[in-house]
This record gives sequence, C-alpha cells and structure tokens, in this order.
Amino acid sequence: MKTNLLNFDLPGLTRYFDEIKEKPFRAKQVMRWMHLAGVNNFTDMTDLAKSLRAKLEAKAEIKVPELIVEQKSLDGTRKWLLNVGTGNGIETVFIPEDSRGTLCISSQIGCALECMFCSTGRQGFNRNLSTAEIIGQLWWANKALGVTPKEERVISNVVMMGMGEPLANFDNVVTALNIMLDDHGYGLSRRRVTVSTSGMIAQMDRLKEEMPVALAISLHASNDQVRDRIIPLNRKYPLKQLMAACERYLVKAPRDFITFEYIMLKDVNDKPEHAHELIELVKNVPCKFNLIPFNPFPHAGFVRSEQGRIKIFREILLEAGFVVTVRKTRGDDIDAACGQLAGKVQDKTKRQQKWQLVQGVS
Ligand code: SAH
Ligand code: SF4
Repeated sequence: MKTNLLNFDLPGLTRYFDEIKEKPFRAKQVMRWMHLAGVNNFTDMTDLAKSLRAKLEAKAEIKVPELIVEQKSLDGTRKWLLNVGTGNGIETVFIPEDSRGTLCISSQIGCALECMFCSTGRQGFNRNLSTAEIIGQLWWANKALGVTPKEERVISNVVMMGMGEPLANFDNVVTALNIMLDDHGYGLSRRRVTVSTSGMIAQMDRLKEEMPVALAISLHASNDQVRDRIIPLNRKYPLKQLMAACERYLVKAPRDFITFEYIMLKDVNDKPEHAHELIELVKNVPCKFNLIPFNPFPHAGFVRSEQGRIKIFREILLEAGFVVTVRKTRGDDIDAACGQLAGKVQDKTKRQQKWQLVQGVS
C-alpha cells in the first residue's frame, strides 16, 4: 500500500524522507506543494528532480477525501460533504464574516459521547478520522474557495466544532493542528485555531503540553444535575474537575481566556437562576461566553429558548462583567448550523436503533 503523505506533519514527513534516503529539505518542499499550493500529485511538483518524483510516485500518494457535494447558503456559508469510504460522509462548513473566515472541521465519523441535544451524537459512532481526512477538509475548502498561493488566504480561523469530539481522536487531531500552524502548511495563528471539547479532562491536560491552541468548552449547564443529564461524559468528569482543568489549561494557552459555549435549551438551562449559578461556577476561570440558541433536528426532544429568555440570560452575565456573544445562526437553509452536521454515518454502536425505540420513530 502507498503511504499517504497527507498523514504527516513536517517532523513526520522529514522522518519519512529520511527513511527513503532523501534530504530533509525535500520534506519542506513537498509540504509546501501539498498545503500551500494545493497540489495532490507529484507531477506538478516541478522543483523536484524527475527521479525523485518517480520514486514518490511508486511509494507514496497524496490522497484527499473525495468531494460528494457542495452546498451554498444564501448568507454565504458553504458546506462540503466529503466521502471517507464505506458509505460514510463527513461535513465541513465555511462561515465568512467581515473580519475573518472560519472553517468548521470534523474530527470523527459520528461521535461516541451521546450528548442529548446533538445530532452528530444521535447518529452513533463509526471511527476516528485520519490526519489526512482532517487536514483534507482544509485542503478542499481552500481549493473550493479558489485559493492560489499568491492570493491572500480566505480561511483565517479554524474551529474543531464539526462532527465528533476532537480530543477523543487526540493523536490524529494534534498532527493535523501541527500542519495548520506550520508555515510550510497553512500558517494559521495558534490563537485562531480552536479545539472545542465536551470536557475530556485528561486530554485537555495533554493538549496543554503538546499543542496549546485556543480552547472552547461545551459547558451547557450550570450544575452537575443538569449536565449529567444532557452530557453523559459529565458523570465521569464533573464540573468541579472541569473548572480546575480549565484553570490549568490557561497557564499555557495562547489566549488568556477559555470560551464557554452554552446552548440555550428552553426550560432546561435557560432560567435566570441558571445564569447566577453559572457566574458562581466559573468564578476562578477567566472566560467568555458564547450562547448558542439550540438548533433543532428531527426528534430532538428539546426546544430553542425564546429570544426574551436569551436576552435576560445574557444581561445577567453582562452585568457580572463577562463578555458574552450570542451565536448567529448561519447556514440555516443548508443545515450547516452547530449540531446539525449529520454527514453520513454508518453507525457501529446501534444507537440509532436505540433512539428509534425510545422515541417510537419508525
Ligand atoms: N465534540 C465537541 C465539538 C463538536 S460540537 C464539543 O462537543 O464541544 C460543536 C458545538 O456545537 C458544541 O458546543 C456542541 O455542544 C454544539 N451543539 C451540538 N448540538 C447542537 C445543537 N443541536 N444546537 C446548537 N449547538 C449544538
Ligand atoms: Fe459529540 Fe460534541 Fe455532539 Fe457531544 S456535542 S455528541 S461531544 S459532537
């Protein structure tokens, strides 16, 4: 089998070139061709000797996931469905804004963590994505957005907020992050690459040491009782431990705050008393809040909080001195909003069947 060079960050690619008895600087050249120039064949790598190109042709490949379909929203949001084999598809979303362009990347096919409000979680889990499949999303998006090396890159920010729990696929995600940050790769700023986690504490400690990027935590509740119910992982890692892990992370983080994502679920977590409880909960963690109005999907069993409730909730936090944003729902018409990415998951956990039984859906 040929070696897919998209699975390597620069240190990995340098080791590979050493193994095939080539000079280390070749790794940099190839890295630039693949990621800066968006080239996925060796023929176009014109500054490599013909003999080296032939050697690579025989041993290696640059294999990106195949594009199944691209959708464009009226608001400029774009979504790509990529084929990752055996009937599985993953989704990637680009969100243009005035001052930045954000790409939302998936890390797994489905997700094993079963958060109640999340369409991906409900889909079940199939497998982790490889580094090539993770970075392949950025590769495709750059290409689709018409980027040549000469033009300014449209994608300034990456958020690991697509399908899957990035920290449950730690090694492949960290290698992909390394490619995103590398000047021979995508040259993104560490502060503009965000990992979002539902709170895998042990892996947060590892990320802090190995790849400190901006961190977002899917908090979604102000006490363990509610969080246990909507995020099963909380039963293993309760809020007190999560807050302590956030404090530790900040020691090495590239930004001096954590972003807490808080999904607004009607009557579940959106009352004024929840806001007050939240203020008390995060008192030792410098943070910002991002309130996310719940995005419905079929048979979700939750309802989006009313505007008025969100406003009151936000005001309580603002009054306490926090920076609070309310996430605008983008790409509604193409189901590209948070938590709506479903892709095509061949579920290995039989969760869909379980849900259908629970919900009485045929
Ligand atoms: N697994 C990671 C990253 C992917 S989810 C995590 O949970 O953080 C990205 C964000 O979308 C998370 O904050 C998640 O809680 C949120 N989300 C999930 N389902 C949603 C829904 N139906 N409506 C709005 N946001 C949702
Ligand atoms: Fe997985 Fe995140 Fe969805 Fe929870 S919210 S099921 S961790 S993708």
